[in-house]
Amino acid sequence: MSSATPYRGRFAPSPTGPLHFGSIVAAVGSYLDAKQHLGTWLVRIEDLDTPRCIPGMADDILNTLDHFGLHSDETVIYQSRRTPAYAEALDKLQNMGIAYPCCCARKEISDSALHGVEGLIYPGTCRNGLPPGRQGRSWRIMINSNTLIFNDLSLGEISQALITEIGDFIIKRADGLFAYQLAVVVDDAFQGITHVVRGADLLTSTARQIYLQQLLGFSTPSYLHLPVAINKAGEKLSKQTLAEPVNKLHAVEILMKVLKFLKQNPPPELAECTVETILAWGVKNWRAENLIGVRASHVPP
Ligand code: GLU
Repeated sequence: MSSATPYRGRFAPSPTGPLHFGSIVAAVGSYLDAKQHLGTWLVRIEDLDTPRCIPGMADDILNTLDHFGLHSDETVIYQSRRTPAYAEALDKLQNMGIAYPCCCARKEISDSALHGVEGLIYPGTCRNGLPPGRQGRSWRIMINSNTLIFNDLSLGEISQALITEIGDFIIKRADGLFAYQLAVVVDDAFQGITHVVRGADLLTSTARQIYLQQLLGFSTPSYLHLPVAINKAGEKLSKQTLAEPVNKLHAVEILMKVLKFLKQNPPPELAECTVETILAWGVKNWRAENLIGVRASHVPP
């Protein structure tokens, strides 16, 4: 990517639950980094996994973001409306002979698979063709034996050997839905995203995404993974750990906490200001370098 490419960043929430502190961190971090670079900041609703999406949640998220002064610079796109684009990418990968149908049910895989960084490593059962009499259920991508290396702006050089850590991964699920890994790559390319700023919980997905970008001929954005927010018990804030939804009526207080969490040292008097003033301070004073090497952090009191 040339340095003359205008910065385009995004925040891509999944409407599977209300925004919690960790999600607001990703929203604010991506916004401040984009705006400091005089860039464009987009919101994309990742409502692809329809069985997990909650009706009305996308609007709730957009409304909460508005209360935080975080407005998408362009029309919000919804993954649920972009199926043809994902189908086209799958088609391309199929024509390249690099995507293959897989008939394996979870149980069959778990009997013979090793555990990787993100669950089971597919043992490659269908890689050379479906067993006789079996039908494909999902589509997988064939990975190669190269170690994928990328530079994260905060966490430095990250390497992942897809073959030993992940395995051939799913790009279209048995329920007919396209997988997050494929959709995110297609959408980041479609929206011309040059900088991905998101939580470090997604760090282990990045190598898969770069691999798909390379296969599909897309450019690779730069990556900055923000610290994961952890609670007092040391658990990542998520729906599973019952992270509280952010209260949009306390946007000022929460924004102050987010700035502290992101190690931006906001002056205490900023807490008397509006969300707009706090964000403007954040843009002006944003120092991504304060986060170097920080992979997880406690939510400030
Ligand atoms: N939709 C994903 C999530 O909510 C984020 C995807 C991304 O930022 O790449 O975890």
